[in-house]
Amino acid sequence: MERKLLIIYTGGTIGMVNNPDTNSLVPFDFDNIYHRVPELQKFDFTVRSISFEPPVDSSMMNPEIWVKLATLIEDNYEKYEGFVILHGTDTMAYTASALSYLLHNLNKPVILTGSQLPMGTVRTDGKENMLTALEIAAAQKNDRALVPEVCIYFQDKLFRGNRTTKYNAEHFHPFRSDNYPALAEVGIHIKYNYPYIRYATEEGHFYASKKMDTAIALIKIFPGITPWVLNGLLQAEGIKAVVLETYGSGNAPTHKWFLDALKNAARKGLIIVNVTQCLAGSVEMWRYETGVHLSGLGVISGHDITTEAAVTKLMYLLANCDTTDDVRQKMSKSLKGEITL
Ligand code: ASP
Repeated sequence: MERKLLIIYTGGTIGMVNNPDTNSLVPFDFDNIYHRVPELQKFDFTVRSISFEPPVDSSMMNPEIWVKLATLIEDNYEKYEGFVILHGTDTMAYTASALSYLLHNLNKPVILTGSQLPMGTVRTDGKENMLTALEIAAAQKNDRALVPEVCIYFQDKLFRGNRTTKYNAEHFHPFRSDNYPALAEVGIHIKYNYPYIRYATEEGHFYASKKMDTAIALIKIFPGITPWVLNGLLQAEGIKAVVLETYGSGNAPTHKWFLDALKNAARKGLIIVNVTQCLAGSVEMWRYETGVHLSGLGVISGHDITTEAAVTKLMYLLANCDTTDDVRQKMSKSLKGEITL
């Protein structure tokens, strides 16, 4: 049977050209990408494409577009063996995380990739990224996908999407996954790291959730943060949950005004999730007194989750759980391999 893969071009540098009038990068039609990569013809599988009209710079990404992407995959799920999403790098880690929660019983690869240099430039990284992402999305053994996860591929590494963070705006390897090993390393050969790949255990048909709730805030604490800034965010109209980015292993100031602000917010039912500002390591609220206080207020540990994965997980859970207790419970569990317990 002929294998088919679907490329979904959302926008981003990978499909950009220089506008000589303004000397800035502007998007071009996806047809141009296909035209510029004749190597696509050499694969032993067929590649089809869908392009966002107009293309979206990833700074403009939002939960509605994540749902649109999830729905596109659902609508095309039976027709294709795998999916490659071309996306800007700026918010790629958020999109990959969101999709990991929105897609259920996934047993086909969904690989996001993009580039730091536009496809049209001589030294572009876009071509290699796209071709390798396609090869990984097509990889099968005994008719089963080798990596049936939402992933990010760049330069020489395949990461679980909900473990990634963009950390570099210049290098050809803009993403890191400090708390989880690469799912594949790419050199002359593509070496898959099988013990770390997640194979859906749930029985049942693939389907996509269609709701996200944006009633959340992200608060990064810093030395000198003032009561009015903290309270302003904690008391923002309609807010249901907060991702609190703390220091080190989950520590925060123990000033009375700080703890009171969190206590009042928690009493009013606000869900507060503690994630670390560090790129690697985990929240351990018992380790220092400064963390123990937070635990006493009912703050939930995000363990070693990334901020991107925590923000999108809260949006997903708030929209798809029936009770606040359910959101709290699921927040401290691993849904799609986003935390290590
Ligand atoms: N601003 C671009 C975007 O995220 C940068 C990129 O494609 O990497 O859409």
